[in-house]
Amino acid sequence: MDKIHMVDLLGQYRHIEAEVNDAIRQVIETTAFINGPAVKSFEQELSKYLGAEHVIGCANGTDALQVALMALNLPSDAEIIVPAFNYVAAAEVVALLKYKLVFCDVDERLFTLDVEDVKRKITSKTKVIIAVHLFGQAVPMEELMALAAEHNLVIIEDNAQAIGADYMFKDGSRKKLGTIGHIGTTSFFPSKNLGCYGDGGAITTNDTELASTMRSIAGHGQSKKYFYERVGVNSRLDTLQAAILRVKLKHLYAYIEKRQQAAKIYTKKLSTLSWLKTPEHASYSTHVFHQYTIQVLGKDRDEVSTQLKAAGIPSMIYYPVALHQTPAYQSMQTGNLPVSERLSTYVLSLPMHTELTSDQVQYIVDTLRAL
Ligand SMILES: *Cc1c(COP(=O)(O)O)cnc(C)c1O
Repeated sequence: MDKIHMVDLLGQYRHIEAEVNDAIRQVIETTAFINGPAVKSFEQELSKYLGAEHVIGCANGTDALQVALMALNLPSDAEIIVPAFNYVAAAEVVALLKYKLVFCDVDERLFTLDVEDVKRKITSKTKVIIAVHLFGQAVPMEELMALAAEHNLVIIEDNAQAIGADYMFKDGSRKKLGTIGHIGTTSFFPSKNLGCYGDGGAITTNDTELASTMRSIAGHGQSKKYFYERVGVNSRLDTLQAAILRVKLKHLYAYIEKRQQAAKIYTKKLSTLSWLKTPEHASYSTHVFHQYTIQVLGKDRDEVSTQLKAAGIPSMIYYPVALHQTPAYQSMQTGNLPVSERLSTYVLSLPMHTELTSDQVQYIVDTLRAL
């Protein structure tokens, strides 16, 4: 059996090597390194894939969030609600732009934000909720959009971990995540479900005016070359990365299926173990398993991770500490966030990628079952 990786980008590349190399060579030979034709083509292809009217490439997923927030032109005392059990990006851009960061707690079963806690955190100054589709499945968007309508809020979907997942509405209709809120943001960091070979990101929206504002902000605030209508930033999706993403987007359905197949075996074979809890699926969302995250409840988590490692199985903790418990964000804590704190001590993510074989998954579950 081949070595088990947490993520296997080299193994994945081997299957698309000729196509990727060709795409890279084309960019180099046309020297269209900045805003080359591949950027526009990729934006159009992603827009079609997602069913979003506008896709704006940018430099990374954190910038996507920053550009989105800048475009909203919020009052300086605006409050923005962000989950405390999360990657740092959303909290970071709120703090950088000097808005008031209001942490909310998450749902113990689903890892995504807890709508009841969001309701408790809404005040007359709340303007935005950043809905992070953590680990590959959706926040309850239908409830969140109703809250947004009631309180006149903007919903930004941080879709960095769930690109390609579908939302199933109560009326039976479906939409891709990132196209339901007012704005969606995503990241093409190499290990993401749609990853490039460096940094990359994108913003999606169906609002034409917001789209043009965000495009302008990402491009130095220009309306046309050398005419600055606002203060912007320099955040471009690199042409080489766009060319690689065009190749990989064609495989995204198959990549998602591979992750789902691995997850299915994990859940089937692990859900009977009493010392751990397998991830639950939300009824309103498909799950694209950016991470397969178990909760280690009846054993010492470090011990489990050490024993896995001794058997040649890597594992990772996403995330080992809730954001409000880190030095940078502890002064911004608002109320109790017990679930976020608890989860950070239980969670353990198992190997999950497109190249995992069923033998490898079987070996991982056998090892866990023997602990
Ligand atoms: C990866 C990630 C980001 C940021 O992506 P970068 O491209 O690394 O800036 C934002 N939010 C979430 C939830 C992420 O997982």
